Amino acid sequence: MDTSVDPCTDFYQYACGNWTKDNPIPSDQVRWVRSFSLLIERNRYLLWQELDAAAKDPKTALQKQYGDFYASCMDTDTIEKRGIAPIQPSWKMIADLKSASGIPALLANLENHGTPDGFFGFGVSQDEKDSSKQIAQLFQGGLSLPDRDYYIVDNAHFAAIRAQYVDHMKKMFALAGDSPEQAAQEAAAVMEIETAMAKASMSRTDLRQPANRYHIMTVADLDNLTPAFDWNVYIHGVGIRHFDTLNVGTPDFFKALNGLLQSESLGSWKSYLRWQVLHNQAQDLPKAFFDEDFAFFHKTLSGQKEPPARWKQCSSLTDQSLGEAVGQDWVKQNFPPAAKQSMDKLVAALEKSLGDDIKTLPWMGDDTKKAAEEKLAMIRNKIGYPEKWKNYSNVKVDRADLIGNLHHVAVFDRNFNFNKLGKPVDEKEWGMTPPTVNAYYNPSFNDINFPAGILQPPFFDAKADPAVNFGGIGTVIGHEMTHGFDDQGAQYDGKGDLRQWQTDADLKAFKERTECVANEYSGFETAPATGDAPSQHLNGHLTLGENTADNGGLRIAYMALLDALAAEGKSVDEKIGGFTEAQRYFISFAQVWCQNQTDAEARRRALVDPHSPGQWRVNGSVQNFDEFGKAFGCKKGQPMYPENSCRVW
Ligand SMILES: [Zn+2]
Repeated sequence: MDTSVDPCTDFYQYACGNWTKDNPIPSDQVRWVRSFSLLIERNRYLLWQELDAAAKDPKTALQKQYGDFYASCMDTDTIEKRGIAPIQPSWKMIADLKSASGIPALLANLENHGTPDGFFGFGVSQDEKDSSKQIAQLFQGGLSLPDRDYYIVDNAHFAAIRAQYVDHMKKMFALAGDSPEQAAQEAAAVMEIETAMAKASMSRTDLRQPANRYHIMTVADLDNLTPAFDWNVYIHGVGIRHFDTLNVGTPDFFKALNGLLQSESLGSWKSYLRWQVLHNQAQDLPKAFFDEDFAFFHKTLSGQKEPPARWKQCSSLTDQSLGEAVGQDWVKQNFPPAAKQSMDKLVAALEKSLGDDIKTLPWMGDDTKKAAEEKLAMIRNKIGYPEKWKNYSNVKVDRADLIGNLHHVAVFDRNFNFNKLGKPVDEKEWGMTPPTVNAYYNPSFNDINFPAGILQPPFFDAKADPAVNFGGIGTVIGHEMTHGFDDQGAQYDGKGDLRQWQTDADLKAFKERTECVANEYSGFETAPATGDAPSQHLNGHLTLGENTADNGGLRIAYMALLDALAAEGKSVDEKIGGFTEAQRYFISFAQVWCQNQTDAEARRRALVDPHSPGQWRVNGSVQNFDEFGKAFGCKKGQPMYPENSCRVW
């Protein structure tokens, strides 16, 4: 803490100031967050112990499988010896393309081999308006840079990044055997196609609105939308079960893709596809490719000084690829049953608080309150790890073929997803692996999910006093619950269907309140002007759901703390170590978010990350909650205790 700062002026600086000074970003990171990063490192180290032991001396079939996978990633000698041989079969398929009309069959063929091809996203997920149905869905894709803005924003900063990207592609193509002239030509062709795709892409902010991405049509309608792309060939090619209708999330993108298929030369398409194959697997190729990929995509775009040690990369890759195999053994070592029972109690406490909060909201009518309480009662809780684990027994793993293993995993994941078409929804499925330090709310499931990885200190500590736990994991639980009622989540009902359950008047009041939050956060700067880069502010509408969840989480976890203290006959004014329970609660909350990040990463995240950076997660939330100002004896009108603030929940 930096107690030389007035908490009423800048609470983040007060709670985190000395931490941020004493904890510079490690050279293999671009962001260093007090709670998250340390726990991620710790969980990964524990995972590594398990993987290393399994790679050397497996005791079970499962250990043999993930041990071999990990070993194939660690075996850089073999990776070096094989060169680009692992991607040559995909490049051969692309070389054999006779005309643009052959692209649907080619994409299907590549995907059947597990080769990433960029282009677009096709898969199965719940129908937004009837969450009991699993339907085919199609979304925009095709870009290599982090966001469409990188291609289209017209200023010196992005122009420089674009020039560096083209230069990077040239180097990669040259490493793969192109002459300098060929490499330049290929890079220019890729840039032209990706830029056209970027221009036709829906912005992340618009994509957040479910109505914008909901366009049910027949396959025949889709064929009419894109006559240059034969969907029947693609759909039959990938081997998914028959369907008549699907959701085309971003029709304008596919309309534009149709035009591109007609206007771009066959050679340009081949270059684009060659690039997708090379770029998406560069990290798993020999060191020269890895280093060049790192230099642009990590160093230039995010300011990372050096890659993480190989064992870290390979532990993370194994977790991403076979997460529920490794996770089964990980939770046995790292998640005691008592942790789950304590979490059940905390979640119940937060549920009660949110219920109390809804009942007393000044701006909401009784009918809407009743509907909100119904939705709250229907939220399901998933804590720790799945009841039923995914069965990976069909995934072939070879100790000497990393890219082959990744292809097998990609095919497994794709088929797992395709198999859902037309089947009942599996409510027990998880979207995060057990060691993950994170949590999520899924609006179509209407459930909150807390992997074992986050249920540890500093978020959750059975030995800490209530203020610390409610300020830590309590605010995380409250955050996830509030997602069910943020600007996006509130558009779904308790069953997870997109349906208005508020009265028109209450919906109008709700929107006025969320707009207040959006405008407030748009005023926050995340990176100051420097060199050719202008000052970068947060995008209040991109981050609106997360900010609303932060604000709601802070309020309802505080209410739950008051309940917990009352049950023990204590008050929030009782002091431990010179701080009242209320102050300790806010400090615990703030210290979850102490962080340092590079300037480049702050800029990248401002465009792609729906979460605000730590400074604004803390200061934005506390200045919207009067109990904070009261707890620290602030004067009305000070920055953290303003006359006017925003409140949704
Ligand atoms: Zn969130």
